[in-house]
Amino acid sequence: MIELLRGDPEFERAVVEGSFNALLPAERPEIVVRPRSETEAVAAVRAVAAAGQRIAVRSGGHSWVAASVRDGGVLIDLGALDGIGLDTERMTATVGPGVRGARLSAALEEAGLAFPVGHCGDPGVGGFLLGGGLGVNWGHWRPACFSIERMRVVTADGELRTASPTENPDLFWLARGSGPGFPGVVTEFELALRPLPPCIRVETLSYPLDRLGEVTRWLTDASQDLPTNVELSLVTAGSPDPAHPFVVGVAATVFAGSVAEADAALAPLHGAPAAHRGRPADPLAHTAPADVAFSALHEAVDATYPRGARYLADTFWTDLDLHDATAPLAALLERAPSKRSYVLAGMPANGAGAGLVTPGEAAYGMHDRTLLIVYTIWEDAADDAANRAWLDEVADALLPTATGHFLSEADLRHRPDRVPGSFAPADRARVEHLRGHYDPDHLFHGFPALVL
Ligand SMILES: Cc1cc2nc3c(=O)[nH]c(=O)nc-3n(C[C@H](O)[C@H](O)[C@H](O)COP(=O)(O)OP(=O)(O)OC[C@H]3O[C@@H](n4cnc5c(N)ncnc54)[C@H](O)[C@@H]3O)c2cc1C
Repeated sequence: MIELLRGDPEFERAVVEGSFNALLPAERPEIVVRPRSETEAVAAVRAVAAAGQRIAVRSGGHSWVAASVRDGGVLIDLGALDGIGLDTERMTATVGPGVRGARLSAALEEAGLAFPVGHCGDPGVGGFLLGGGLGVNWGHWRPACFSIERMRVVTADGELRTASPTENPDLFWLARGSGPGFPGVVTEFELALRPLPPCIRVETLSYPLDRLGEVTRWLTDASQDLPTNVELSLVTAGSPDPAHPFVVGVAATVFAGSVAEADAALAPLHGAPAAHRGRPADPLAHTAPADVAFSALHEAVDATYPRGARYLADTFWTDLDLHDATAPLAALLERAPSKRSYVLAGMPANGAGAGLVTPGEAAYGMHDRTLLIVYTIWEDAADDAANRAWLDEVADALLPTATGHFLSEADLRHRPDRVPGSFAPADRARVEHLRGHYDPDHLFHGFPALVL
């Protein structure tokens, strides 16, 4: 097992490995260990427990709040556990937590298979799945954690356990949604796969930001007729065009069996049926539906997250429709200190998102009609305060109508209320009870601490 101590020339790089965010906490562990096998991961947990130290866990290191960078103790970096095994007959995959979404998509595509991999190619499946996993086609395939069949977990007592619907079901329940609060080390996931959709197409449009209301009204209306295999996303962001410094972009991705099925699925976005107000005229840009490979879906998304920039983000679920949910934003977006900052809005299952998750099914139970994800992205440390203030202002505007948060991208370090707010109210006590049950001595650091 590779071990690096504070003071080692490689130590600092090992601590921030995987993070693309230059705005990192000052906390540092004493030791970073990199197990190369499950056996070494078990040994690491036992050794840290015996030494009375605490553990932080990392798979891909992509958490923007750097949840794995904690003060003292040992950081267990599982990046080397990155095996992918496919069973094409059973349609399952056995994957290590360090596997990146992009690599998984490519392996699945080659085998004619699919999975709700993350929209971004960089996150490790470890953190992605534990946080719920809002992957591609999630309105149809559901959040990815519901496609986990089984996992192997080293718990705080140093035992290697299987968690599944029939073995340690409480641990399985907790692992599907407790994200950075999960008290264990997952060494392997078994995932249920789908056949690769033969036809994946993407259509995009953009409009000036001052037409946000018109666009969201159209999408809210049209989405009522869109099948769940059409994934709509709306992004408001800065643009290099001086005539339109801020724009609203729309992307509709369809996962279909054929071109004819894809065309029929997208039809509600094209025509102007009497019941709808129709698509707003004169977009700034429009690309007609075009084929995209499953393994390339993440590329456009990755391009919006430059490595080495400074990031703050937050998330808001609401039971409002897209139009009403985004209404408070227009004026705020134009005042964003960085034109790279943006708001991403989605309506899983095209408005039926609240029903995608059965209450009590897993710790991932905070789900609603519309999800807004705000990212502030800038370069210069001198602009930190202005960007922090802007995100706070956006949060203040969205909080009155928010029903909860999405744990994996919420502002956990600055807003401690985001942790309970990321679980369904009925599940909060169970999450805390099970975390205490599996880790009574707080061996694992758990949810990121507040750092002011
Ligand atoms: C730019 C960007 C885009 C994103 N896009 C999406 C998206 O499309 N859908 C989505 O659902 N999420 C998305 N996320 C959120 C992302 O899924 C989470 O940040 C996730 O935690 C990243 O996984 P990781 O393994 O790389 O993270 P890490 O930083 O390695 O892990 C985060 C935390 O999860 C826990 N953890 C990780 N692995 C293990 C393990 N094996 N055992 C026990 N605990 C573990 C640890 O507490 C760790 O500190 C995005 C995040 C960013 C920054």
